Amino acid sequence: MEADFLVIGSGLAGLCAALCASRHGSVALVTNSALGEGNSLWAQGGIAAAVSPEDSPRLHLEDTLRAGRELCNRAAVEILTDHAPEAVKWLEEMGVLFDRGEEGIHLGREGGHSRRRILHSGGSASGKSFIDALTQRVRETSPIQLVEHTIAAELVVDGERCYGIRSDAAGGGSPRLILAPVTILATGGAASLFERTSNPPTATGDGIALAYRAGAEIADMEFMQFHPTALVSKNGWTFLISEAVRGEGAYLFNTAGKRFMPAVHEMAELAPRDVVASAIHQEMRQTGSEYVLLSAKHLPAALLKERFPNIYAACLERGFDMTRDLLPVAPAAHYTIGGVRTDLDGRTSVKGLLACGEVACTGVHGANRLASNSLLECLVFARRAVEAARQDATPLPAIPTQWESLPPLESEPSDFSPLAHLMTKAVGIVRSQSELACAQRQIEEFWGVYKNESLQWRNRLQVARLITQAALLRTESRGAHRREDFPHEDPNWKKHIVFQKDREPRTIEV
Ligand SMILES: Cc1cc2nc3c(=O)[nH]c(=O)nc-3n(C[C@H](O)[C@H](O)[C@H](O)COP(=O)(O)OP(=O)(O)OC[C@H]3O[C@@H](n4cnc5c(N)ncnc54)[C@H](O)[C@@H]3O)c2cc1C
Repeated sequence: MEADFLVIGSGLAGLCAALCASRHGSVALVTNSALGEGNSLWAQGGIAAAVSPEDSPRLHLEDTLRAGRELCNRAAVEILTDHAPEAVKWLEEMGVLFDRGEEGIHLGREGGHSRRRILHSGGSASGKSFIDALTQRVRETSPIQLVEHTIAAELVVDGERCYGIRSDAAGGGSPRLILAPVTILATGGAASLFERTSNPPTATGDGIALAYRAGAEIADMEFMQFHPTALVSKNGWTFLISEAVRGEGAYLFNTAGKRFMPAVHEMAELAPRDVVASAIHQEMRQTGSEYVLLSAKHLPAALLKERFPNIYAACLERGFDMTRDLLPVAPAAHYTIGGVRTDLDGRTSVKGLLACGEVACTGVHGANRLASNSLLECLVFARRAVEAARQDATPLPAIPTQWESLPPLESEPSDFSPLAHLMTKAVGIVRSQSELACAQRQIEEFWGVYKNESLQWRNRLQVARLITQAALLRTESRGAHRREDFPHEDPNWKKHIVFQKDREPRTIEV
C-alpha cells in the first residue's frame, strides 16, 4: 500500500495531521485501535488559548515558560501560544461546540495559569467532543484511507531516510509494508508503562521505540508528568479528577483533615502540577496513607454537575457523590513530556520522518507541562508538520521487501505488571541514584528474558530504559523530575539529555 502521506495514530494529533494532509494528496491513516482511541479521547479540562480580552498570547507564553523551569524552547512556545486562538477557530470549523455562558465562551482555570483561559466542550468531556467531531470529518474525507487495528511495528529506513512502516494486523496475519515519501508519527505517550496511570492502554510509547530503533534523536525522557489527582482505585488505568475541579475552588486535605497546599505554594491547590503531585506524595509518605482527600463539597452542587458531568457520573459509579463526599485521590503517571526530538516544524533527525502530539518533544513543555497545553500542541504542530512534509517529500525509491525479523506480536495479552511496578516504585515521582540503578539492572534482566517474547515487550522495555537512564543522568530536581539525593535545581543542568541508537547519550544546552 502506498500514499502521499502516512500518518500513524488516530488521536488528536493524527486526526488533525490526516485532515490537513488530505488537502494535498492521498493519506494512509494507520492506527492500532479503532479510529479516535487514545489519550485524546479522555482529555477532560480542555484546550488553553488566550481568547479573553484580559488575556494575551504573551501572558500564556510567560505562564508556559514559568512552568517549564527554564527548559522550554522559547521559539516553540511562541508558536504554540500565538497560534492557539487559530487552533480553536479551526476546531470550531470542524464542528466542535465550546461550552458557553452568558458572557460568551466559558473559560476554565487550571494550575499554573495566571488567567482563565481553558476552553472546554461537553463540560469535562472536551477530548471526546474534539475526537467525535474530527473522526466524523475523517470518515467523510475520501483521500484518507483508514487502516484501523493495524500496528506500526517498524519504520522502514535506509540508514538516512524513512519510507513508511512495516505493519502487523492487531489480530494476526502477515506483515505488510505501507509506504509513503513522508511518515508522520502521532502515536502518543508512554504513561501506561507505570502502575497507576491516567492513560488508556494505547499509551505504551511505541512511537518512541520505533523512532529510536530507526536512528532518530529522543530527548527529555526523564520528564514524566504525574497528575496529582487521580481517583484512588486498584492499580492500572485510573480515573482522573481534572485540575479544572481545583480551578473552580476544590481543596486538598491530608487524611488528618489539614489543608496542606497553602503552606507549600502561593497558588495553593493551583500550583503547577509537579509541585502539587510531589506535595501529595510527601503527605502520603508522612501520614502513611495511600491517598489524600479532594473536597469540592463546599461548591454549589449545580455547578459541579453542570461543569463536570462526566467526572460527577464517574465518581458516582465508584460510590462517591462529589457534591457531598470527600474524594480519595493520589498521583498517577499522566503525560510524557519527552519523546522524539523535532524542530519547530515537526521534523525529526531522520529525513522523511516527522512527529507531532505527545510522542514528539518539540520543547514547548520544558521540564513540566502546563495544564491544557497538550491538546493545543497536537493541533498547532500537526498542521506545521504537514506543511514541512509537503516541502520534504521526495519520490519513493524501490523498497527492499526483506526486513529484519522481529519478535511476534503477542497473541494473548501479556502481564506487564512487574515492569509497571518497577517503574512506579523506582522511577516514579521521587527518585534516587540507588533505586534508579537498581531499576536499570532489573530492566536489563527483563530485556534478557522478554526481548524476543513479543514486540510489545520490546517496545516497553526500550522506552523504560530511556526514561530510567535519563533520570539517572539528571543529577538535580527540576520540574517533573525529582531526585531526593539532588533536591535542588542546578543551573549547570539547563540542558536536554538526548539519546540516539549506537551513540552515547549527550546533552544539549537550552
Ligand atoms: C485522562 C486524561 C486527561 C487529559 N486532559 C487533558 C486536557 O484537559 N487538556 C490537554 O491539553 N491535555 C490533556 N491530556 C493530555 C492529552 O490528552 C494528550 O497529550 C493528547 O491527547 C495526546 O494526543 P496524541 O494524538 O498525541 O496521542 P493519543 O491521543 O494518545 O493518540 C495516539 C494514537 O496512536 C495510536 N498508536 C499508538 N501506538 C501505535 C502503533 N504502534 N501503531 C499504530 N497506532 C498506534 C493509538 O491507538 C492512538 O490512536 C489528558 C490526558 C489524559 C490521559
